Order: sequence, then C-alpha cells, then structure tokens
Amino acid sequence: SEEKSLNFIEQIIEEDLKNGMPHSGLRFRFPPEPNGYLHIGHASSIALNFGLGESYNAPVNLRFDDTNPEKEEQEYVDAIKRDIEWLGYKWADERYASDYFQQLYDWTIELIKKGKAYVDSQSSEEIAVQKGTPTQPGTDSPYRNRSVEENLDLFERMKKGEFPDGTHIVRAKIDMASTNMLMRDPLMYRIMHKHHHRTGDDWCIYPMYDWAHGESDYLEQISHSLCTLEFLPHRELYDWFLDQIFDDKKLRPKQREFARRNLSHTVVSKRKLLQLVNQNFVSGWDDPRMSTISGLRRRGFTPASLRNFANDTGIAKRDNLIDVSRLEAAIREDLNKIAPRVMGVIDPVKLVITNYPEGKEEWLEAENNQEDENAGFRKVPFSKELWIEREDFMEDAPPKFFRLSIDREVRLKNAYIIKGEKVVKDSNGNITEIHATYDVESLSGSGTEASQRKVSGTLHWVSAAHALEAEVRLYDRLFTDESPDTHKGKDFLEFVNPESLKVVTGYVEPSLATAKVEDKFQFQRIGYFTVDKDSTSDKLVFNKTVGLKDAWEE
Ligand code: ATP
Ligand code: MG
Ligand code: MG
Repeated sequence: SEEKSLNFIEQIIEEDLKNGMPHSGLRFRFPPEPNGYLHIGHASSIALNFGLGESYNAPVNLRFDDTNPEKEEQEYVDAIKRDIEWLGYKWADERYASDYFQQLYDWTIELIKKGKAYVDSQSSEEIAVQKGTPTQPGTDSPYRNRSVEENLDLFERMKKGEFPDGTHIVRAKIDMASTNMLMRDPLMYRIMHKHHHRTGDDWCIYPMYDWAHGESDYLEQISHSLCTLEFLPHRELYDWFLDQIFDDKKLRPKQREFARRNLSHTVVSKRKLLQLVNQNFVSGWDDPRMSTISGLRRRGFTPASLRNFANDTGIAKRDNLIDVSRLEAAIREDLNKIAPRVMGVIDPVKLVITNYPEGKEEWLEAENNQEDENAGFRKVPFSKELWIEREDFMEDAPPKFFRLSIDREVRLKNAYIIKGEKVVKDSNGNITEIHATYDVESLSGSGTEASQRKVSGTLHWVSAAHALEAEVRLYDRLFTDESPDTHKGKDFLEFVNPESLKVVTGYVEPSLATAKVEDKFQFQRIGYFTVDKDSTSDKLVFNKTVGLKDAWEE
C-alpha cells in the first residue's frame, strides 16, 4: 500500500504515543444518534474512526447516542448497523448511551453532594433570559443555591416520575459569567415521560448529550473521541464533566474535532433528510436520490466507492464543500473495473435490416468487460428487427454526426456494418422505423476485409424479438442549488429539483433475465445501472447510477 501523509488526527495520536500513551490504550468509537439513517457525511466519520482502528490495530466501538427518546427508534438502530456492515467495517462492542443511565444518575447524585449540580425549577424561557449574551454575564437562577438535601430530594422525585415534563431540570453549577455560553450552568437532565426504544419506561429523566457523551467515552475507555467542528465549544464542558468523575488510574478520553463533510447539491443532515421523506419529496430514506448510505447503495454505489471517496477527500480542520462530481467519479472508477458490459436501449426506435433474412437469428459473441480479462464473453442474439437509441439516428444529419443517417454507414456493436436506407413515419411526422441494409461480410471479429472497414461510429442495439422490457429510472440531482441549506431566509426545500427523476421504458439484452437486485452493469455508451429492489422477473427495474463521463464537465 501507498505511503500516505498523516492527517492531523493521526498526528495528534502520534504525539500522544510519543508522550507515553501506551499503544494498547488506543480505542475509538463511532457514535450515531439513532434518529435517522446514516448519510454520506457519516461515511466520512465512519471511515475516519474505523480507518484509525485499522491502521493502529485498535478496537472501534459502535455507540448509539440514544439520550432523546422523542426522536430515536429501533428502525434507525437496525438501519445504522446494516449500513456500517455493508460499508465493510466491524465494530468491537455495540454500546448504547442508555447502558449508562444508572451510572450517570449515580454520578449526578455525587455532583449534587459536592455542590456541583442543582435542580432548577424555572421555565425554559426564564432560564434562557438569564443566560445572558456572549458579551454580558448571565444571572444566577434563584434556585442555584438550593441545599444539597433539597436537590437530592427533588432529583429522586424527578426520577420517580412525580413531576410533569418541563417542571424541573438538573444543571451543572459552573460559571454564569463564563465567556463560553455552554459553561453557564448547562443542562444535565430533563424530565421526559417518553417510552425509550431500549429502556422502555424505566426512566422519565434523560441526560443531555454533553453529560452523556464524554462519560460514555470514559466508561468505554475511548482514547480519542472525534467529533465534528460544531462541538469545539463543547470541549471545555466535555473536560469539566470528566474532571468531576475522573479516576487518574484510568485513561482520560480527549475530544478532538474535524470539519463536517459537506457535499454539493444535496443536504447531509438527518433532520433535513427526514423532512424530504415525510413531505414525500422522495420515496423513503433509501430513495436513490438521497445522500443516505442506503440511498446511495440502492442507486448502485459500492462500499469500495464510498470508502474511497471518504479516504480521498479526507478530513479537514475547516468546513468546506466537496463537489458531488467527486462522489460520482469514485463510483465510475469502481464500476469501470467491475461492471459487466451489456447492451440496453433506453429511448428505443425500431431498426429494420431489410436484406436480413426473415426469421433468422444469430448469437454473436460479445466481450463482458475489456477492463477485466477474467470476465469472459457471452452471446447476444441478432435478428432482422432491432431497437436502437433514437438519438443515434438523424434524418438530415450534419457532416459531423458520427451515427446513423440515410446513406451513411455505422457498425452495430459486436455485429455488422449497416447503411441507412429510409425512414417510416407516423401521421405526426415522428419516425417509427428506420430501414437499413447490412453488409453480410462485415461481421465483427470474422477477420474478413469487410469486417475491418472503418466506419464513422459504433452503435449499441438489442434484438427486438429477444429483448426484455425494462423500467429505467434516470436520476438528476435532488437540488438545483449547490448549497440548498445555506440561503438566509429561504428553506432548502425550495431548491428541490422537480425533474430529479425520469422514468422511461427501455429494452435490454436477454442475458439480463437472470440479473439480481443490486447487480451492476454498464449499459454500453450510456452509463452504469443497477437492478432496483422493485425489480421482478416479469418487470425488470434499473436505476441509473451515473453516466459514463461527467456530463457537468462537458
Ligand atoms: P445530523 O445533523 O445528520 O443528525 P449528527 O452529527 O447530529 O448529524 P450523529 O448521528 O450524532 O449525527 O453523528 C454521528 C457521528 O458522525 C458524529 O461523530 C458526527 O460528528 C459525525 N458526522 C455527522 N455528520 C457528519 C458529516 N457531515 N461529516 C462528517 N462527520 C459527520
Ligand atoms: Mg449528534
Ligand atoms: Mg443530529
């Protein structure tokens, strides 16, 4: 493998090892909240954490950050696990922040006893006003100096379910004048009478992210807790909470931050992706236009392409926007190596070879993948009536039109050279048939002089009598704008591309009869396609993954 320069997280780790941290202490985690499906941004975080696990031979936990039962569901837990496995990564332990609810509760009692936490009984509006502003200190809550006994009593009764939602909270007692707003007595617990997907109705108080995350890292002895940049101001609080519980015989986790992966022409936020699903802009979380891992999978992306994309784009210290064409290039590169070539026509028009014998059929040899010497050959049927692509014929063609026209010759891929003769039109003037003659001597690979004649182009085709009808779903970008969710005063949904899905009926060669869901092909001269989960033996359904070259670069 190629020598790669260390990214800044690896440099931090190297520094820690140099300063005496034992290699055996390295441990990472990927901590999704099960409130939606994973997206391409998560793939970057997964590749980072599991990649570190691989390069340092260290365990990586999968930890569900399940502290908010209002938004979290088992369906999301299952989907997240499926996606990580599909990407090809293996976690060491499967953990849940909810595994630690009792420990967090016990620690909170200790904090209360030490005067480091208290129960506040004001409304959230009152508390917000007292927070102050970044340039003005906040005001103490009238409950800030409640006695330990009263705090302990209230906290226990909160847990027992004596109070309705919103009546009391637990706050850390830190510094109402801190320049870091997050240090102004942050929330540790709130009352939520909600069923939790794992703990059921055991709890009606739930810890906040800040109070659960670092402590979960500590309990799992995670050495490097990597998160995205918006958590940079949380680091001080992460450390403060650890200070309260830290036992110096144990490893002390550190939080370090990297920039979120932002991708053009899409959104990478579970909340926004959920809006697209709920408001029926897409068919579901795995709609092939979604930036979710399951959507990209259904679109025809491979695990290798997503891992390569994540590794090639790497991680940054500052927010940046990666053009979606880089993601498309990653899948094109992988599919070029592995996808069998087939012929499929997605905008068909009939071609009749007038001098080809009626009722005759030939099975011609076709190479499966010139990029893969082990891919072999298959037979494709040829007959008098074929389907070709409508745009491959032009009646009054300019000299530079290198496809079929009247009195001009082209080669049919793997078959014969044909010459355009005439067209048949319907009453509206639309071409319904193209008639051509073939050169009997010109069969590809036959070695004859005629087979070696140079003609101006090569077209793909399928035999009409043998072709399979297929529904073909053609996708365009889901958003017309490069950064749909960055416009002040405009909702990102305003930029949804109304033409992001076009469904057509095409014809494909009969070898595809046995194609299975997620099988991937190159439809020669068109692009890469995969079999959709809606496909049946009666009706094939293909998703277009990506075109052969980047249309946006032309
Ligand atoms: P979302 O806004 O989509 O819900 P999140 O950060 O709240 O994102 P989590 O489930 O909490 O989602 O994320 C799990 C991990 O993945 C976190 O460490 C988070 O920082 C990281 N992550 C999330 N989105 C991105 C992204 N766009 N790029 C890189 N890492 C990300
Ligand atoms: Mg989160
Ligand atoms: Mg979130």
